[in-house]
Amino acid sequence: MRYKIEDYPFEKYDCLHYLKTLYKDRGLKLFYQFLNRTQRRPFSRALINTYAPHGIGLEVGVGARTICPTERTILSDAFFAHGLHDSIAKVFFHGDEIPYENDSFCFIVSEHVLEHVANPLKVLKECIRTLRPGGKLFLFLPHKERTNDSHRQVTTLEHVIDDYNKDVPLDDQTHMDEWFKNVVRKGLMPFHYSHLSTKDLLKTGSIHHHVWTEKEILEIVQFCGLKVRYVNAKVPDRRDSFVVVSEKS
Ligand SMILES: [Zn+2]
Repeated sequence: MRYKIEDYPFEKYDCLHYLKTLYKDRGLKLFYQFLNRTQRRPFSRALINTYAPHGIGLEVGVGARTICPTERTILSDAFFAHGLHDSIAKVFFHGDEIPYENDSFCFIVSEHVLEHVANPLKVLKECIRTLRPGGKLFLFLPHKERTNDSHRQVTTLEHVIDDYNKDVPLDDQTHMDEWFKNVVRKGLMPFHYSHLSTKDLLKTGSIHHHVWTEKEILEIVQFCGLKVRYVNAKVPDRRDSFVVVSEKS
């Protein structure tokens, strides 16, 4: 089944939508956070609006909150909940089969998603297929050295190509043991996942299959034929993350 962009119920009022989802997520604490909204992720929001100032975009794997301009971004997710939080997505599908036509979007944003995917190249190829020529891809990802993955090895370009060639499925468990050894047993399991069983962690896409810094992601997007437009090894308003912005030619 295919979705149509025209059918998506866009939010007319970005601010109001943000307030609503924050209330759902945080309850009364939202008032404090809402007052700070202009301070919340101002860098990342500005980055998206600078490189993709116009047109409709897609967020892949939105989770409980978004930094995208919601009046022109389709909020999508593969899961209804992540850890303790419900997703605010309005359309649901897995990133390795994006149900939109070729060349649909002016931009695609994906924040802390690709590391949860067992076959990242497959998802990237779907993003590229649905991006318009000249469209921008924003990849915000946890930096190996500044997250729970600091004891793990980085994932190479060769590895993701291999996963792609083997057509690794979404429920792949190849990295489970290594993740357990280097994250869970070292006491680095994020709190918001601690109520989930091992089996459920896989079903909800919660484990980090792969681990990167900006260097490997640069190689991967260039391998995919994208032109790199912007790189920041440490996102100023989300310090565990790096960001790579690239363009479809
Ligand atoms: Zn892998």
